[in-house]
Amino acid sequence: MARDWAAVFDLDTDAEDLLEHFDRAWFRGRPYRYLTDARHGVERGTAIFDDVVVRGYPSIPRALVLEPAVEAHFAGPIAVEEKLDGYNVRIARIDGDLLALTRSGFACPYTTAKVEELLDFADFFADYPEQMLCGELVGPENPYTEHDYPEIEEAAFSVFDIRHRETGDPMAVPRRRECCAEYELAAVSHYGTFAPETAAEAAIETVRDLDVRGREGVVLKSVDGERALKYTTSAIHRSDLEHAFGLPFDYGRDFLFTRVVREAFQTVEFDESPEEARERARKLGESILLPAVETIRAVEAGDSVGDTHTVRADPAVVEALLSYFRDKGLKLAVERDEREDDQRVVEFTKIARSTRDKTAYYLGGGTVDE
Ligand code: ATP
Repeated sequence: MARDWAAVFDLDTDAEDLLEHFDRAWFRGRPYRYLTDARHGVERGTAIFDDVVVRGYPSIPRALVLEPAVEAHFAGPIAVEEKLDGYNVRIARIDGDLLALTRSGFACPYTTAKVEELLDFADFFADYPEQMLCGELVGPENPYTEHDYPEIEEAAFSVFDIRHRETGDPMAVPRRRECCAEYELAAVSHYGTFAPETAAEAAIETVRDLDVRGREGVVLKSVDGERALKYTTSAIHRSDLEHAFGLPFDYGRDFLFTRVVREAFQTVEFDESPEEARERARKLGESILLPAVETIRAVEAGDSVGDTHTVRADPAVVEALLSYFRDKGLKLAVERDEREDDQRVVEFTKIARSTRDKTAYYLGGGTVDE
């Protein structure tokens, strides 16, 4: 029986006004719908499988200056956790089937196969059938992100939230951590729980340490799990810029202003000396210019430019993933396609068409009106 979707999503409009924005797809013979952009107060990534709803993961506000943001955002104790740089995955079990959804709500055959390989979720979902595990998938050989954690050789899934799949209500942080321990689910690092007056200082200290180690940053959470705030390291700002300016006409503009602003406020909050600020400026400049130069040279040499990924899985899973990318209109250049035992290993580049075409145009003498 169809559900009253307007009530489920607490809409102030007709359900159809929301449902028309959902894309339709199939996962292992099961039809579903998913919402790739937030609409009518419903989070991006929300998916519907028959009568079952899996809510999208909420957007986390970012602090540019931690101390006042913490004061304004939290009233009670605050847990400080590591923010990992991989891709957001929600795992739910529906009618006995495990499903791994990406941030946009796509039930990803590759991610589902990976998490099934990595962990045994049976006991957890037997006890918590309506909860979903929210976590970050990091490590090489994934089709979505390129960030490298040198110590992670295989894919790894780290839980940072457990939420009710339909309401999106979070489990409190201490209970979630106990749950992860009890069911042997890897979890993000926890650096302690602090009073609001000391949390910002503790977080900044952690961020300085994570920065030296080239890691992404922290997420601060109220212990009930309801409120969160993210803050990131200079190392990740630069690595984002390096990536963006490696494909300047695809990502450059979107990334530049936000990262420069984050760096500027961090320089002030960290009370840096003129020498330290100058050193930060030098590194920032290098992370912008050098990758762009490298890319122009690559296009000049006729190499393909784009994000390169390797995937390894059952041949049917790899085929489903590649078809999904092609259906989305991505142009893929396959660099390697091999069988290793019963698995298919494909290295491919998602071609960055704007960067390729515009770079070639300017190299060929094309002009620009500016
Ligand atoms: P937004 O949060 O505004 O949607 P976004 O999708 O660009 O932004 P990020 O800026 O990378 O995402 O930050 C939020 C993401 O960080 C989460 O969606 C999650 O995937 C990831 N993340 C990594 N570690 C944690 C953690 N400890 N707690 C919560 N989220 C985490």
